[in-house]
Amino acid sequence: MKARRRTGPTDVVKTIVYDRDGGACVRCGVRDGLTVHHRVNRGMGGAREPWINQAHNLLVACTTCNSWFEDHPRESYEAGWKVRRPELPGEVRVRYADGSEYLLDPDGVRTTMVAPR
Ligand SMILES: [Zn+2]
Repeated sequence: MKARRRTGPTDVVKTIVYDRDGGACVRCGVRDGLTVHHRVNRGMGGAREPWINQAHNLLVACTTCNSWFEDHPRESYEAGWKVRRPELPGEVRVRYADGSEYLLDPDGVRTTMVAPR
């Protein structure tokens, strides 16, 4: 058997992302049925980019919103839930369910750009 190539974030990174995002979906704020969403998709060979599975490229999202992002690319790019190459995830602010907006860094730090309502 060939060893499977790891394509997702490590458990350590997932924990950082869940803590940073308060354990709630960034778009709707629910706390159930959560998953880790990639802002820049893992494209062909994308997993080779070192930041693909780092915290600033990842958001906590419910499975409903995770699908919604794919169905609503324009709104998702506008809110920073998705990031379009060649922009980098650390350069694009993210809107959260409470109206706040942050820039994210690879270590899980959020810099406030717009304060929560
Ligand atoms: Zn949601």
